[in-house]
Amino acid sequence: MRTSITHRFVEFVPDVLEEGVLYVSLEYATAVHRCFCGCGKEVVTPISPTDWLLSYDGESVSLDPSIGNWSFPCRAHYWIRKNKVHWYGDMPQGLIDAGRRRDKKAKAAYYATQATMPSKKFDPKVPSKSSADLPGDRKGLASTIREWFKGGK
Ligand SMILES: [Zn+2]
Repeated sequence: MRTSITHRFVEFVPDVLEEGVLYVSLEYATAVHRCFCGCGKEVVTPISPTDWLLSYDGESVSLDPSIGNWSFPCRAHYWIRKNKVHWYGDMPQGLIDAGRRRDKKAKAAYYATQATMPSKKFDPKVPSKSSADLPGDRKGLASTIREWFKGGK
């Protein structure tokens, strides 16, 4: 299992692929490499809006989403991130964070249904604020009327 790779921009993918090299053909919008687990199987990742997204920052390349070689005996699953290979068991921090955010959301949703406290706390605030405004307006109107009467007397 390798953890770092190199990339090579090519027009045509060579017949013999070097291990640890991600060949990128912009011409054919395709990236090809030998499975990074070392099994030597050829992995073709088409680059398209519905397949893989290739990012190039001038120094290194990334491929999204992850590559799962489920059809190979090795069943290798990894991400290519800035010329680094993140194995499924060793997820990139971004993924872990996304997972944690999901957990937080799931927890929030769970507590919202379990204890209606948080949502109920917010509800009275809105009507009480608007009802506080209403008497204020009525008071204003009442005092205007009182003043009008006063003025009349
Ligand atoms: Zn493999």
